[in-house]
Amino acid sequence: MVAEKEGSAVFVRCPSCSGWFNAAAPLIDRGDIPLYCPSCTRRFLPREAAEIDRP
Ligand SMILES: [Zn+2]
Repeated sequence: MVAEKEGSAVFVRCPSCSGWFNAAAPLIDRGDIPLYCPSCTRRFLPREAAEIDRP
């Protein structure tokens, strides 16, 4: 299996359930667009994220 290289994907950690999911880098950079956690359905702004892991 070939790993897909997602250059613009950033991993974000949800402040509510601590789960990681990925989001597009431009969304994070804008900062005013809420991210959506697929695990617990929480919406939060990038600055509220528990952690952000940029490539
Ligand atoms: Zn969550």
